[in-house]
Amino acid sequence: MDNRVFLAQCDTYEQAESAVGRVLAAFGGAETILAGRKRVLVKPNLIMPKKPDAAATTHPAVVAAVCAAFVKAGADVSIIDSTGGPHNKAVLKMLYSRCGMEDAAKRSGVVLCYDTGSRTVETPDGRVIKKVTLLAPVLDAEMVVSVGKVKTHGMMSMTGCMKNLFGCIPGLGKPNLHRKYPDRKEFAGMLVDVCEYIKPGFAVLDGVWGMEGAGPTGGDPKHLRVIAGGFNPYALDLAQCHLMGLRRDSVYTIAEAASRGLAPDDPEKLMWLGDNPERFRTQFLPAIKHKNDAVPEILNNCVGCGDCKRICPQKCIAIEDKKAVVDGKNCIRCYCCHEFCPAKAISLG
Ligand code: SF4
Ligand code: SF4
Repeated sequence: MDNRVFLAQCDTYEQAESAVGRVLAAFGGAETILAGRKRVLVKPNLIMPKKPDAAATTHPAVVAAVCAAFVKAGADVSIIDSTGGPHNKAVLKMLYSRCGMEDAAKRSGVVLCYDTGSRTVETPDGRVIKKVTLLAPVLDAEMVVSVGKVKTHGMMSMTGCMKNLFGCIPGLGKPNLHRKYPDRKEFAGMLVDVCEYIKPGFAVLDGVWGMEGAGPTGGDPKHLRVIAGGFNPYALDLAQCHLMGLRRDSVYTIAEAASRGLAPDDPEKLMWLGDNPERFRTQFLPAIKHKNDAVPEILNNCVGCGDCKRICPQKCIAIEDKKAVVDGKNCIRCYCCHEFCPAKAISLG
């Protein structure tokens, strides 16, 4: 188990290149990390088409810095992600454009991937899933780099470099997995299975600005001033949880990874490298304030767009009189609706 986590202070995104350079250098530099691999896929968190300053997506400056470092080391790099909605070229175009990825790709000389193909693979070592459908470019890459974002999350409490890989499941496959694994511990087990299958070659975490409160899309930006990285995405998750001041027992992925011997269960057992973690540690408001099984509540600013109805894996949302209405009896508390509401019109209590 590699317990190393490197923290580099990064006050503004103008400093991202230098901070990412410090992170990679601590692990021998991009060439050492590549270890002869050439086809690299960079996977940022592009959960929905939002501008970078909303802090819902990995900032293009961080993505560009990571891409440029691996290009310089001789890799062929491309960028890909998939939202929870339909996965096609038109959606990808809008996503890349809105999230600043066109600029990131141009600046770093890499390719934005528009291959929307996918394949189903067997995961014999999976403890929860025995097969999964993944984006074809993920399967074809020799190395995947997860470039996650520090954010709170309604169902999993937080999202970082490990959960970022859930985006390697194409489009509507994600709500289907929510329906199949409504139990949070089981869902966390499925996420670990997916991460173990992909086995990212490196992970970088954008915590310059994170998101607190109604994450992962509707919360508020919070200045954490750090870029972190390491080989072990689970160790990075544990470090992130510590920096955000979240309760470890609310982050099921951390417990699951620890139970499988993939990461420690206590931040004191991490090997902290780089800048002192206490410099960054702060209290993030959680996504759910009171109880973690709240039924989503539709607020008055609902515009009746129906996005929540389309994403709901349980089909328990209706639009009545141009407002969403939730059938609480069938709700599995996956909070996909909350994640994908463009109007921040869903409260989790
Ligand atoms: S996604 Fe949001 S705004 Fe659209 S119908 Fe649902 S609650 Fe209303
Ligand atoms: S109403 Fe929202 S939280 Fe409940 S099952 Fe549907 S998408 Fe998930």
